[in-house]
Amino acid sequence: ATPTALLVGTGRGAQLGILIKGPEVLESTRAVDTVVLDKTGTVTTGAMALRSVLVAGGVEEREALRLAGALEHASEHPIARAIAAGAAERVGELPGVEGFRNLPGLGVEGEVAGRSVLVGRERLLTGRGMPLPAELAQAKAAAEAGGGTAVVVAWDGAARAVLVVADAVKEGSAEAVRRLRALGLRPVLLTGDNAAVAAAVAAEVGIAVEDVHAEVLPEDKVAVVRGLQDQGRTVAMVGDGVNDAAALAQADLGLAMGTGTDAAIEAGDLTLVRGDLRVAADAIRLARRTLTTIK
Ligand code: ADP
Ligand code: MG
Repeated sequence: ATPTALLVGTGRGAQLGILIKGPEVLESTRAVDTVVLDKTGTVTTGAMALRSVLVAGGVEEREALRLAGALEHASEHPIARAIAAGAAERVGELPGVEGFRNLPGLGVEGEVAGRSVLVGRERLLTGRGMPLPAELAQAKAAAEAGGGTAVVVAWDGAARAVLVVADAVKEGSAEAVRRLRALGLRPVLLTGDNAAVAAAVAAEVGIAVEDVHAEVLPEDKVAVVRGLQDQGRTVAMVGDGVNDAAALAQADLGLAMGTGTDAAIEAGDLTLVRGDLRVAADAIRLARRTLTTIK
């Protein structure tokens, strides 16, 4: 490839809203046959809202909201923001937190009002010997079947409430998947979220069930990308979160959402400035065209 043609491609990219790290980046897109899409913030808006609060017998909804809201106020995760905002709206001012700890891909923990509180996925709590009571497990399954993400709140050593948050698939996501397919690429959905939510989103945008990888821990996202590469595939990855950075770096081509975190943008080869997934297809088409012109 001649440097000039690649630079022209880079300039055209800027017009389309694609920032390219260096002209040589375009070279790696030639053979891309698989595109891995992060769910939250990439295929969905990531702007989650608190939808419902389910409590175990004898537990007050207000108390669950107060403790979970206070703890999540210290986290920047989209789920945390939704819970903190929803709790503040419903119960007013939230208490302070001591000893806050973020457990990436799992949840958060800390002391609120003298209580030791955990908020996160079920696996985090079962790992601490706090199984979900049957009534909460049932409510959680129903919420998930409806496409919500359910997180569990525990304090004083037991799981006591389930909070349901949900976000929406972005307007252009289904079209983006169609365009990627039209380029001969196989779309794959990758998420730390639960399998029911992942399946609902996949169905909505047109990704096959067998191409959904759910409940993947942040450190394992990179392993999913590597696994596909080991199968002989050339992989593009699109992501926005801190938890996507390693996978973006591992992919043959990393595309970061411009609306995402600095960590993702630094790890990617190119940035989709407006966070529009449809532009991912433009980027790959542009790279192919640029390379064909120079051949
Ligand atoms: P994704 O891969 O979809 O961007 P993450 O890897 O960030 O999602 O999170 C995976 C799961 O861990 C979430 O679906 C949620 O169940 C749990 N989780 C992570 N952070 C938090 C938090 N701050 N509060 C509650 N749950 C959390
Ligand atoms: Mg994400």
